[in-house]
Amino acid sequence: MTTLRLILGDQLNVAHSWFRQPDRDVVYVMMEIRSETDYVRHHAQKVLALFASMRAFAEAINKAGHRVRYYRVGDRDNRHTFVDNLRQTIKAERAACWERMEADEWRVEEALAAAARELGLPCQVVDAEHFLTKREEIRAAFASRVPRMEYFYRGMRRRLGILIDAKGEPVGGKWNFDAQNRSRWDGTPPAPAWPWLIHDLRELWHEIQSAGVATIGDPQADKLRWPINRREARAGLAHFIAHALPNFGAYQDAMREHSPLIFHSALSFALNTKMLSPMEVVQAALDAFDEGSAPLSAVEGFVRQIIGWREFVRGVYWGRMPAYAKTNCLAADRKLPAWYWTGDTAMRCVGDAVRNSLSLAYAHHIQRLMLTGNFALLAGVDPDEVDAWYLGIYIDAFEWVELPNTRGMSQYADGGLLGSKPYAAGANYIGKQSDYCKGCKYDPKRRAGVNACPFNALYWNFIDRHSERFESNPRMALPRRAWLALSQAEKEAIRQTASEYLDRIDAL
Ligand code: FAD
Ligand code: SF4
Repeated sequence: MTTLRLILGDQLNVAHSWFRQPDRDVVYVMMEIRSETDYVRHHAQKVLALFASMRAFAEAINKAGHRVRYYRVGDRDNRHTFVDNLRQTIKAERAACWERMEADEWRVEEALAAAARELGLPCQVVDAEHFLTKREEIRAAFASRVPRMEYFYRGMRRRLGILIDAKGEPVGGKWNFDAQNRSRWDGTPPAPAWPWLIHDLRELWHEIQSAGVATIGDPQADKLRWPINRREARAGLAHFIAHALPNFGAYQDAMREHSPLIFHSALSFALNTKMLSPMEVVQAALDAFDEGSAPLSAVEGFVRQIIGWREFVRGVYWGRMPAYAKTNCLAADRKLPAWYWTGDTAMRCVGDAVRNSLSLAYAHHIQRLMLTGNFALLAGVDPDEVDAWYLGIYIDAFEWVELPNTRGMSQYADGGLLGSKPYAAGANYIGKQSDYCKGCKYDPKRRAGVNACPFNALYWNFIDRHSERFESNPRMALPRRAWLALSQAEKEAIRQTASEYLDRIDAL
């Protein structure tokens, strides 16, 4: 009796108990399908890296003795949906049942549950053995109440015994070192994440194009720099720990033109496809701390991202879907400016972030939050449009992590469920954290009139538009009071500049 086991493109976890030993009665099924390439327009490098990683994974488990049925994007018998490919594989293999891991995304979970009903065969769903929290547990907990991230994170530290001393207190006497982690970076750009890595994927790119998959961004098919197997992902982790982690804390909020990475790890693709496990990444950082090669402020800051934010947003997603995907508490309804697809804007900061995103399928967190996200928030762009952009453009974008970060953290569309205040800022913040404003066409000191920085005019306009809503938010009291204290003439000038900018938003 044959059992089929479905492996999704983001389930490349070779440490999963499924793969402990080969079983001739088990056939693993993997598929490159149009229902997955087409639900949003993805970055070319995302499609390339995912398919190349899936192929490498299939080859690796096959070499280890497992049987694999792999559907390539251009295969004639590829029916391009989960259910159709499963149906024909079940028939060909005379399978009596099938198994799958829990999907990370709501859309995929729904599609697979529907497939199970349609196929009518027994189907077992197992844990993906990747996250540090069980999906059902975190779903139930976050469905009843979403905690503040800080308290969730402290709970995780205690539960996992990470950076906790013998008395149960945080190592170093503090839970976080945020105050030390806001420096500006004025040095030369550090090396890229995978300086040695170059994949020639022109053949695969040809297959993807011949199949008619529409993508965005630069494919870099002859020199793709993302890891496509566990060995490469591990090497990237080691490189980050040795070269960037010591500075990760101090410069985690910094931005610098032509420096897409600063000291970030670029590990999100390897993590989200499960080539790396969160615990091994955390352990590598903890080892660096124990060996004295990285300071506590850096290690704590990094660990917080993995056991804190990453698990936390997953809780928000599973606890609040499907309603979460429709939240729009600020009633934002504008279209995304055209330059999000080209980088063609005179605003030096956000232009650099968009161009990085198009050429690398990557931008670091502060660029995503305080440039592209911040601009969309201030301009009142429809969160559906913002979501589709983020979900498509980034190599690491899978809905469980993209949606809460975009709708919640960056667009405040959930009304403060995820974060206690909108991440809205003008040129003052951007200028402090980066070198962007020097030489920009716009004047970072002006909030109204000719060449006033659009972030400034739109920031005050945002506070004005939502003044009533923010009245009850103590964390917005300061900017609200500052707005109310302006003279009528100043307010009018800002409103007028903001309105002009919004009228020609595609040409800013
Ligand atoms: P580092 O800065 O080196 O951080 C290390 C790791 O911590 C990351 O690889 C990631 O796994 C985790 N991490 C850090 N911040 C977060 C966070 N806020 N939420 C979840 N995990 C986090 N992350 C994604 O993985 N996929 C997305 O689609 C995604 N979309 C985002 C959209 C917006 C608007 C914003 C503001 C953030 C988004 N993030 C997303 C979170 C974060 O920006 C990326 O995880 C990070 O930039 C990836 O680069 P890195 O690996 O160099 O991260
Ligand atoms: Fe960005 Fe404004 Fe600074 Fe120009 S002046 S780089 S638009 S913040």
